[in-house]
Amino acid sequence: MKWYYADNGEQVGPVSEEDFQRLTRENKISSKTLVWHSGMADWQEYGKVRVSDAETELKAKITGNSGESFCSECARAFPRDDMIRYGDSWVCSSCKPAFFQKLKEGMNVGNDMRYAGFWIRFGAKIIDGIILGVLNSFLSDLAQIAESPFLPIHLFLLQIIIATAYTTWLLGKFGATIGKMACKIKVVTDDGGKISYARAFGRYFAEILSSIMLLIGYIMAAFDEQKRTLHDRICNTRVIRK
Ligand SMILES: [Zn+2]
Repeated sequence: MKWYYADNGEQVGPVSEEDFQRLTRENKISSKTLVWHSGMADWQEYGKVRVSDAETELKAKITGNSGESFCSECARAFPRDDMIRYGDSWVCSSCKPAFFQKLKEGMNVGNDMRYAGFWIRFGAKIIDGIILGVLNSFLSDLAQIAESPFLPIHLFLLQIIIATAYTTWLLGKFGATIGKMACKIKVVTDDGGKISYARAFGRYFAEILSSIMLLIGYIMAAFDEQKRTLHDRICNTRVIRK
C-alpha cells in the first residue's frame, strides 16, 4: 500500500508502507498529520485512520465477515480492498465517480438501509415456495415412475436437503433466493455486509423455528422498527430493499 501525507501544506508521496511506518516512528508523521492511501474517500488525520483501520479489522474478526461488502450504489458485493469507505457505506471502484458527483451535489448518499416489510417478504416466500414445490413434485413423480424403493420418509428427507441447499447457497452467494431477487430484496448483516454461507445455513434452521411458532416469528417483523423476524434476530440479519 502506498501512502501520501501532507508536510507543510505540500503533498508528499507515494511512500511505501515501510517508509511510512519509519516516518511515524521518527515523528515526521504524527497523529495530526493529514494522510491518504488508496481506498480512503478523503484525506484524514493519521490518528483517525489508525483507529478506523483497527476497527474495520476487529469488526471483520468478530463477524467472521469474508471481507466483502455491498456497494451502497449498485448493491453488488466486492472485496473491501477494492472499495472505498465513506462513513458507514462502501462504494465499489466503478461507482466511485458517480458517488463523488453526488457528494459534490450535496445529495443524500450512504447506506440508509431500507428495511423490507412483511408483504414484500411474503411475496418472495411464495415465489420460492412455488419453485421448491415444482421441484418436489417432480421428484415424487420421478420416484413413482422409477418404482423406486424410496419410502415417503426418504423423499421427505431429500426435499429438506434440497430446500436447505437452495436457501443456503443462494443467500450465501447472492444474499437473496430467487424469490427475494424477484422482489428486489436482500439479506444482509446488521451493518449491511454480505452474509456468510454459515450464517445463511443457520438462518434457514432459525427460520423453521419462526414457522413452527404458528408464524409468530414472522409476525414479529411487523412490530420491529428494523422489521426483524425471529430468525433475523437470532442470526443478526436484516432484510433490505435494494
Ligand atoms: Zn458499485
